This record gives sequence, structure tokens and C-alpha cells, in this order.
Amino acid sequence: MPEASLEYLKAQLGELNEAGTALHLRVLEDEQKARTRFDGREVINLASNNYLGLAAHPRMKKAASDAAARYGAGSGAVRTIAGTMSLHTELERRFAAFKGAEAAIMFQSGFAANSGTVAAILGKEDVIVSDQLNHASIIDGARLSRAEIKVFPHKEAAAADALLEETRAPGRHQLLITDGVFSMDGDIAPLPALVEVAEKHGAIMMIDDAHASGVLGKNGRGTVDHFSLHGRVDIQVGTLSKAIGVLGGFIAGPQHLIDWLVNRGRPFLFSTSAPPAVAAACIEALNILEEEPERVERLWDRTRFFKKGLQDLGFDTGASETPITPVIAGEETKAIELARLLWEEGVFTPAIVFPTVPKGRSRVRTIVSADHSEEDLKEALDAFDRVGRKLGLI
Ligand code: PMP
Repeated sequence: MPEASLEYLKAQLGELNEAGTALHLRVLEDEQKARTRFDGREVINLASNNYLGLAAHPRMKKAASDAAARYGAGSGAVRTIAGTMSLHTELERRFAAFKGAEAAIMFQSGFAANSGTVAAILGKEDVIVSDQLNHASIIDGARLSRAEIKVFPHKEAAAADALLEETRAPGRHQLLITDGVFSMDGDIAPLPALVEVAEKHGAIMMIDDAHASGVLGKNGRGTVDHFSLHGRVDIQVGTLSKAIGVLGGFIAGPQHLIDWLVNRGRPFLFSTSAPPAVAAACIEALNILEEEPERVERLWDRTRFFKKGLQDLGFDTGASETPITPVIAGEETKAIELARLLWEEGVFTPAIVFPTVPKGRSRVRTIVSADHSEEDLKEALDAFDRVGRKLGLI
């Protein structure tokens, strides 16, 4: 009986519940914005990746609804059969230009872009040299490729150099891969040093800019632009689900890479393409980014204000350099309690615990957006102050 054969999952869930690490879904009952309602409670929302406040921007809503009215709700097929719409190709042209790349290709998510691309460009005779804190989608892509996986300590370019040296062999392709901004700590990859290492070894350089697109560089062009490394990174990954405010992922790079992914990128080949409303809203997001560069500036202004506020209160904000600011609580139970008490105060910040972060470094993760007012952030800081004292964190 199926019930009996899945019985073991109940025991495993019981263990998660006992450890207090089982996930419970908060339900958003309004728009994704700076102040909104989850589970019947009005909260200051420091939990979303909606960095630029575009998810529910009036122009984005209009672009999505106009496209749905004109082209329908769904795309009806995978891209390689009948599901390539002019909106997809326009978006890809726009993203290539945005990233300063020859071409770009859209995937259904950032996860699919990473895993599909890594798996498509490497084989079992190849090697991937990957930062210890890279995203799960990179790890899955590496496994799917069957290449040898070598992990270097977080941000240590010299260790990546040694691994590339050690794994060098005639005809073997080597991929050096890093997140641009790390999602749990909010620190930035040492891209200039990594690019030098990749160039020294003739390795492919790939960067996952999920948390950097729309955040770092001119008009939010990403980590490559931030460090002025134009033309020196082979593959740039972006997500359309965070700062862009919608859904999807993309790869920007040389035309022959994009042509290869059309032929061998499995999520592209075997999963239906994005609905018209999604593609149209992403195009509108790029329009807004180009017309309103002050949005990115406001994001950074708010980020500095909030980070300094937390630090002045005496909180440990780890290595953060971006709008992602962890507030380190230490033990798992402490982080969970911190998140719970903040929630009671009307501030939504998720607890992040082992195994997502190392033991003893449990935290709540805050993400500021361009849409938070100083008033919102002051109120959140007051709540952090009260709760932090109560828990003996400050
Ligand atoms: N890379 C990183 C670093 C991420 O944080 C995420 C999202 N959690 C992704 C890729 C996947 O992006 P998406 O949500 O668009 O699938």
C-alpha cells in the first residue's frame, strides 16, 4: 500500500519537528511589498527578494495584464516546439544588451538556468571548481553533469587556483563557478581574483548573479559591471524572480553558448516556456531599471541606513556588504526565538539554521528593498532593539 511504503517519511518529519527545523509556510495575503499581510498579520516585510519593489509595481501589473489580454495565459509548448513567443526573444535581446553579452537565453527559473547550464556544458571527464557556499542549483547542475566536483573554501581564490592546477589534464574542461552575492551572508565574491585565476588556467568563468542583478553595478547590471570585468566572464546567470520582480532565469554569454543551450539545456528543451505575462513584465522591469536608476540608489541608501542601525544596536551582521543582512543569533533555538519574537512585534524575518548555515551561526536574514521607507526601517530597528535585549543578543 502506498501509505505504508511512505510511512518512514512521518518518522523523518517527526525528527525535523522535534529539532524545531521543519519548515512552515507563511501565507502572503496581499501584494509582495514593504508592509503587507502574512497569515492575518500586518508586518514590515524584511523577508522578500523584491529588492527594487517591482513585484507589484503598477507598470509591471499593467504590462502583465496587457500581455495576458493580447497573447493569452499560457505559452502552450516548450520553446523548441511551439512555445517561443516574440516576447521571449525580445526579452532575451534586452537581457543580452543589459549584461553586455552577445546573446542571452531565458529559462523557467534561476534554478533551471544554473542546473541546466552546468549540466549541459560539462561531461564526466571534466571538472567543476565551486565555492563552498554556492547555491543548491549549482550543486545540482554539477551532479547532473557527472563532472568531478571540487569545492574551495568560501571566497579563497588561491584555493581555487590550486584546485585548477591539481585537476588540469589534456582535453579536460574546467569550470570555475561562484555566486556573485551569497544569499545567506550577503557578501560579494572576489570576482577580480577569480577571473585572474580562471584566465591563468584557461578555465570557463561562470557567475550566478541571482542576488546581484538589479542590485550591483550601473543600473543593476550585476557583479561583472560592479568590478568592471566586462568581456572577462564567460557565463553570467541572472534570475528574473528577485530584483526583476517576476519569475524566470537567464544565461548571458557568447552566441555559440546560447545556441548550445537551445540544443542541450534540458529545462529549456523539456519544460514549457514562461507565460506571456511573465515575459512582458520582465521587459517592463528592464524599462523601469533604465528609466529610474534612482531605484537602485534608494535600495543602497536604505541598506546603509538599516545595516548601520543594526550595528549601532550591537548586533553581529556577519560579513554582509549588500541588502542581505544576517543578524547572527548563534544557537538554532535562539535564531528561531528571535524570528518568533520579531514576528510578534510585526516584523517578518525568517530564521535560517543548520544545515543551511553552519552550526552556531544561526540567524535571521533581513533583506531591505527600495520600497521600505525610513519610517518602516526605524520601526523594525526598534523591534530588533527590544527583542535583542530580551534574548541577551545585545
Ligand atoms: N541562485 C541563487 C544564489 C539564489 O539565491 C536563487 C534563489 N534562491 C537561485 C539561484 C534560483 O533562482 P530562482 O528563484 O529564480 O529559481
